[in-house]
Amino acid sequence: MNTWINIPKNSDFTLHNLPYGIFIRDGRPTPGIAIGDQIIDLHATSKIGLLHQLGFDVTVFESNVLNEFIGCGKNAWSSLRQYITAELICEGDLFKNREKILVDRFDVQMCLPIQIGDYTDFYSSIEHATNLGKLFRPNSEPLLPNWRHIPVGYHGRASSIVISGTPIKRPQGQMKPPTSDFPVFGKSKRLDIELEMAFIIGKPTQLGDTIPIDEAEDHIFGKVIFNDWSARDIQGWEYVPLGPFLGKNFASTISPWIVTMEALEPFRCQSIEQNPPVLPYLQYTGNKNFDINLEVGISPNNDEETIICNSNFKFMYWNMAQQLTHHTVNGCNVNIGDVMASGTISGRDANSYGSLIEISQGGKEPIPLKNNQTRTFLEDGDTISIRAWCQKDDIRIGFGECKGTILP
Ligand code: CA
Repeated sequence: MNTWINIPKNSDFTLHNLPYGIFIRDGRPTPGIAIGDQIIDLHATSKIGLLHQLGFDVTVFESNVLNEFIGCGKNAWSSLRQYITAELICEGDLFKNREKILVDRFDVQMCLPIQIGDYTDFYSSIEHATNLGKLFRPNSEPLLPNWRHIPVGYHGRASSIVISGTPIKRPQGQMKPPTSDFPVFGKSKRLDIELEMAFIIGKPTQLGDTIPIDEAEDHIFGKVIFNDWSARDIQGWEYVPLGPFLGKNFASTISPWIVTMEALEPFRCQSIEQNPPVLPYLQYTGNKNFDINLEVGISPNNDEETIICNSNFKFMYWNMAQQLTHHTVNGCNVNIGDVMASGTISGRDANSYGSLIEISQGGKEPIPLKNNQTRTFLEDGDTISIRAWCQKDDIRIGFGECKGTILP
């Protein structure tokens, strides 16, 4: 497809993508769509009167988050996507008004794209769960008996989800040295990342409702990259019996652009075989996994970046539909803007592990970086950048970057 807009080679934001985000224009958070190195300002576009024929209330673009637009429903998402695609191909109204509605993407600050009411974190990579089981419970079976039957998850903290680029302050807390029976208090020395993706709820449910598995994807608006920063020393001491708490809730970072399910459609792929078979409410048909390449880079003090992990979202044992169906099977309701994170996405090979604790084997094997540096866990000044993209034949779409720097 040819377009009048300049899209650099290997851009994440091609005509096939059209992800949604919130950027600052004239001091005001504004909804937009990323295309190439630019952003289409949806508020300006609607003010000019170009979106009124699309069949939904375009005053939703006056909001400083995307929740209201998402609430207009799947037909609104599709009709806007079709309109923008057509307008980028032909030199029509968008072209004529391009000076008013196009903004340079690299000149603007991005904000959280949604107001997040609730956040759930799953634990759905069998490789990650096995690796962590071995590290945290070396003397027992790494996978607990429930793991192959339940998409295990916990309720996280929505208040500390931050936009890419927000600095991350090293958390302090209680931890127990391996040689003592008593805890000490201090700054975490085993600060880690978790390479995850998250989906954003696009259609709410009422309390008491359950989402059947074949309708689950209708409730998903799109996806972002998610870094679930983790303090392993705090986590190791606190997590029995009720699970993650202060070792996790000090910060999680999301990428700014929400890539829609419609854009991801060409990248569906076969799911992982589940053995033993899951209970009937979790059985699904069709391809429910997605082929999304993932990459993690680390740069100490803005030094040269080393790629420490290449993974893929297709490795997930439990898919998004199963996660959401399980989440609501007891009648728990979901709301627009809720964030559901995948859990760390590790593959089979050591270069595909999605956390430092796995790559460094619990801190025992230093990870070599460029310029003769090494890491086991994060040091102050380290910047972590996670990138995600899909490529099939000549179609490429990407998520941009999910980035954060550790402060003392
Ligand atoms: Ca996690």
